[in-house]
Amino acid sequence: MNKHSPQLSDELMDWLQNFNDEQKHGVIGGVVVFDAESNDYPIVFANSSFIRLAGYNEQEVIGASLFSYQMPSENQAKLQEIQGKISKTNHPFMTKMYIITKENNIVQCEVTFRPLQFDGNAKTLYMATFYNITEQTKNEMLYDIYRRTMQSYNQDKDPRIILSDICKTIEQQYTPSDIACSLILYDEDDTAQKILSEKFSQKIIDAWNKIEMSTCISYLKKALKKNSTYTIENVLTEPYSYLLNDDRTHYDKAILIAIHDEQKLMGTFMIAYSQNLVLEKIDVSFFQQLFVVIKAVDKYNRQQKKSWRYIYRDPNTGLYSLEYFKRKIQEKISECPKGYISIISPKEYDDIVNIYGRKAGYALLTQIANRMASLKANENDIIASFVTNALIIYTSESSERFNCYKKIKSLVESPYIIENSEIYITISVGVCPIDDDHSLEECIRHADQAFSKSMEKPGDHIQLFNDEENDRIYRQRKIYNQIIYGLKEKEFRAYLQPKLSLQTKKIIGFEALARWQIHDGNMIYPDEFIPVAEHTGKIIEIEDMILEEVLKWLFNRKYLNLPLYQVAVNASPQHFYKKDFVDNLVAKLRQYQIDSCYIKIEITENIGLADFKKASTIISCLKLHGFETSMDDFGKGFSSLNYLTELAFAEIKIDKSFIDHIDHPKTFAIIRTIVQLANNLNINTVAEGIEYKEQSDILSDIGCDVGQGYHFYKPMTMDQANQLLNELG
Ligand code: C2E
Ligand code: CA
Ligand code: CA
Repeated sequence: MNKHSPQLSDELMDWLQNFNDEQKHGVIGGVVVFDAESNDYPIVFANSSFIRLAGYNEQEVIGASLFSYQMPSENQAKLQEIQGKISKTNHPFMTKMYIITKENNIVQCEVTFRPLQFDGNAKTLYMATFYNITEQTKNEMLYDIYRRTMQSYNQDKDPRIILSDICKTIEQQYTPSDIACSLILYDEDDTAQKILSEKFSQKIIDAWNKIEMSTCISYLKKALKKNSTYTIENVLTEPYSYLLNDDRTHYDKAILIAIHDEQKLMGTFMIAYSQNLVLEKIDVSFFQQLFVVIKAVDKYNRQQKKSWRYIYRDPNTGLYSLEYFKRKIQEKISECPKGYISIISPKEYDDIVNIYGRKAGYALLTQIANRMASLKANENDIIASFVTNALIIYTSESSERFNCYKKIKSLVESPYIIENSEIYITISVGVCPIDDDHSLEECIRHADQAFSKSMEKPGDHIQLFNDEENDRIYRQRKIYNQIIYGLKEKEFRAYLQPKLSLQTKKIIGFEALARWQIHDGNMIYPDEFIPVAEHTGKIIEIEDMILEEVLKWLFNRKYLNLPLYQVAVNASPQHFYKKDFVDNLVAKLRQYQIDSCYIKIEITENIGLADFKKASTIISCLKLHGFETSMDDFGKGFSSLNYLTELAFAEIKIDKSFIDHIDHPKTFAIIRTIVQLANNLNINTVAEGIEYKEQSDILSDIGCDVGQGYHFYKPMTMDQANQLLNELG
């Protein structure tokens, strides 16, 4: 308490002293009264709490400027001239101030200024109350760091960035001084991860990067043994000293704190600062808490690295893994979205695996990759393993298409050596350019689509992705999903199209055609869904559903004692070649008690191309069970008249494209020959797609047995077919 302040009455001083007492149980409430008239704001009174807080004695405090406990940088123009000398509002004004104690500790305070007014006093005296919020601020900072680190975790941020963010926060918030924080974390093999403050000059950063870490670590280990708190202050000794030499003008002092786990040294945290600045005595417990967060990030980092190492290479080929490829390319193209993604595979891969085994297949891919690598145009190009039989390549060059051809040529020019044999290969490539509009995943998918396309083409082939193709594939995928739903919901129906005797014009049978009305009411036509269903294997289920419908129809007619007709069902090659195709058919017919003479199997003529012998066996087996077989779309593909003699077809269906042009003499001649030939071989002839009477008449004249087409009837529902048969009697 100051007895030399004449302006203050004893009463007031008592009250000020008690002001502290009232706050005893809270944070220290130091009270100071200062003269707001004087430019340097001299203190005229300070209570015992403030004196304790500042660590000076009373004589030192009284008369000194309120701002003599402040760092000059913190004066903020004398706190905006005590907030416009409060007088304007006379409201208390609250702010934050750092007090530097006699022992050079920095105490952060929340300060409230109030004017003191009492009668007959010419001077303006202000009162300032100080609350020590150092602990609270640090806790808030720790909590903030912890919260933001967790957030970064969840966003899968690079651990280096997380650590560097922690350092930056400390730089900004730890003390009012200009400090630079750097972090070194040691690995088991004494290599280190360095997070260097961005505040250092490039020279310093270069020097740090060159430093021999093992020297550093052994130095630290020695130094830390001597010090129970694991801190080293003023580390201007080797090997750190020269690191700061260049920045002497700025950071010429440093404190080093060890990060340790039990007794094991894990790393160091360095705070560099300038000698003319005051740095708070290091608060070890604060840093120990901070290091808990740093250690967690480090642990996470190591775990990531471990799993990363594991997924970095493809174990079979030793090439980069797809995962690695994606990461690398993502980095590159986020800077510059240019270049190409190619997928490449030897067409002979399966054969090579069949003959020489899996390892030979991998060896071939590795050899191709090596040849590609030697052709690499650009440092940035990357080759990785894509799937078992294909490689994926990123090329940054712009005239990819042209160069690709050249590269491919040199890839296949000379043979590969597999198990001591020389093997020539043909190559399929799918290429997709990288652009701003598509993600890397999309580019890879597009390259893959182009690749599938190129696999269908004979010989070496490079297929460039195009958007139309993408739309088609997109629609196909959509249809595929709808097919799955449609099968579940039994949305597929069989429509029947009558087949008529061209002589008598009487209905002699029907063809069952799949119709699909999807749940939104729209029809999807066979030309669209059959290819997708065939491609995805779903055709078998669809055809089973159609057969079932046909059998129910026949069963119902049989039950009602109505005449039965033969119905032809279409069988896709997949279904036809399925092992138990005939057995299932027989079982189904037995279930509905329908005789096999009422079911005809229509298969397209090129079925024999796949496996002539097998086709012949199945057709004979069908015949043995009493089923007739019909060769659909005859003349459309690679017709081989051989089939007619060697496969036991009961019927051929002359493709609509011939019937359409029956008025062309050449086409007419072909049709007539086919009909004659079939007649000679005792095979029935059916003309498909008859739309006009003239066509029907000509066909009848040349001895074609059966007609089918819109001229007679369009495909119709089963009820309509019943009605029609009823009307015809
Ligand atoms: P397809 O087996 O050659 O069937 C004949 C197609 O020609 C049917 O088309 C039929 O509606 C149509 N058509 C019949 N008469 C005429 C005519 O006078 N003029 C014209 N312009 N067209 C006529 P749809 O029903 O659209 O079937 C197309 C193709 O889809 C069929 O050709 C067949 O290859 C396939 N398909 C239909 N259902 C099935 C099935 O259950 N399984 C399999 N694998 N394929 C089926
Ligand atoms: Ca057909
Ligand atoms: Ca046909």
